[in-house]
Amino acid sequence: MTAPRVLFIGLDAADESLLRAWADAGELPNVARLLAQSQRCPTQAPPAVYLGGLWPSLVTGWQPDRHGYTWWERHDPQTYGTRRFRTDDIEAPTFWQRLDDAGLRTLVVDVPLSRPAPGFGGVHLVDWGAHDPDPRGFVTNPPGLAAEITARHGQFDADSCDRFARRHRGDEGAIVAGLVARIAARERLFDDLVRRESWDLAAVVFSESHCVGHQCWHLHDPGHYAHERAATRAGDPMLAVYKALDGAVGRLLDHAGPDTRVMLLATHGFRTHPDAGHLAPRLVRRLVRHLSASLPAGRPPSSGERLSRRWLRTPRKARKAGPVRRLARHAFDHAFVVPNGDGWLALRLNVAGRDRFGRLAPGPQTDAWLDALQHELSLVRNPGSDRPAFKSFLRRDTLYRGPHADDLADLFAEWDSSAHYPALHSPTVGRLEGPLLERRTGDHRPEGLALVSGPGQEPGDLGRTLSITDLAPTLCAWLGVEMTDVDGRVAEELLEPAVTR
Ligand SMILES: [Zn+2]
Ligand SMILES: [Zn+2]
Repeated sequence: MTAPRVLFIGLDAADESLLRAWADAGELPNVARLLAQSQRCPTQAPPAVYLGGLWPSLVTGWQPDRHGYTWWERHDPQTYGTRRFRTDDIEAPTFWQRLDDAGLRTLVVDVPLSRPAPGFGGVHLVDWGAHDPDPRGFVTNPPGLAAEITARHGQFDADSCDRFARRHRGDEGAIVAGLVARIAARERLFDDLVRRESWDLAAVVFSESHCVGHQCWHLHDPGHYAHERAATRAGDPMLAVYKALDGAVGRLLDHAGPDTRVMLLATHGFRTHPDAGHLAPRLVRRLVRHLSASLPAGRPPSSGERLSRRWLRTPRKARKAGPVRRLARHAFDHAFVVPNGDGWLALRLNVAGRDRFGRLAPGPQTDAWLDALQHELSLVRNPGSDRPAFKSFLRRDTLYRGPHADDLADLFAEWDSSAHYPALHSPTVGRLEGPLLERRTGDHRPEGLALVSGPGQEPGDLGRTLSITDLAPTLCAWLGVEMTDVDGRVAEELLEPAVTR
């Protein structure tokens, strides 16, 4: 007896509590059906770095300190600026590559942050209609498939999520219509492919739940600081998109039939977008300047570095031809902000031996700085709510110590997003305000939900939370393939009785 084939349906950033509530209310009949028939497995994405690190961890089974990807751009320890991190720079194979290597047939559509790997024998479509696609755009394996797909199903433009939303600003009906059309087109495309290809595993990810959460959360959540009751008269845009997803999921399940093992995954959830991130680099610069007076200074800057530092203080235009043209302004600071998405502020220390102009020695010097920075950040408040601006902290070295740990930030601070930020207030460096450019109103929380159903699968609650890295080895185990050398572990409870080995 062979293992049943596997259908993986990802609902990217579909909030699990909304799925449950709307299923209970009768709005999402297919999700309700799955909730009743499935093992319900809560999932958790990698702490503090899940905004960028979730998908690479999910598809490789590796933690972010092992694959190194936490955001689409990352700190460059040479220039202190940022450079693009391409997901095909990740050294780990994806679960579909492992299945392909084992001789199984795979079909993969629009899994975020993936690219066709050299030598891969299955069908792989990337960024056909994605949330924040790679600038290289839509690609397929085999390469010739792209033209055929575009001719038959069109192609959704490669705009970023924000550019798409900006085109329809103030007309949420148009945003919803665009997303619903993309859901319907992807369903047709995927349905075509699963019918004509033979496969052991087929995977599809719908990104529309992600886009609508970022752009329309304020219209859904009455507690949001920018909630507009008038705009929701036409209905909740999030519900409209979730209903379209529910319909697509139901039809795909029906076509797959009862002999297929199914994992429906809501990857991570939503909450209010904190709107003070634009003030953070200035806040941190001032805090660092203040702390420099009392904390270990570390290695003194060389005369050349002192000169370069003076250059950096001149306006960028005036240093066009200078030796430090490409250096970021914070290259000689003891600590600075690095990219990590919006929900968690990420700070990096300038550590000797790791960063080009590193000054602080690892150990007591860096610890003193981390303690002091965390303490200062804990005192920062939102004058709009009179609450602390940060609700939790994570020191990288307490959790992430893998081979790429040094590529990550050193200290993470989770923004409180319960109210609008008219400013930030620090008792040490005072009040900061400035114009907000960010327009997203929803941001992520790390909790997700996997619903597992299929032949022999008893419904119920798993009773524990799976790491997002457990899913890839579990999907492979269902098809009899052991995914060795991963951080995630097979969820043994989900193996029996349907798989025979
Ligand atoms: Zn997002
Ligand atoms: Zn989007």
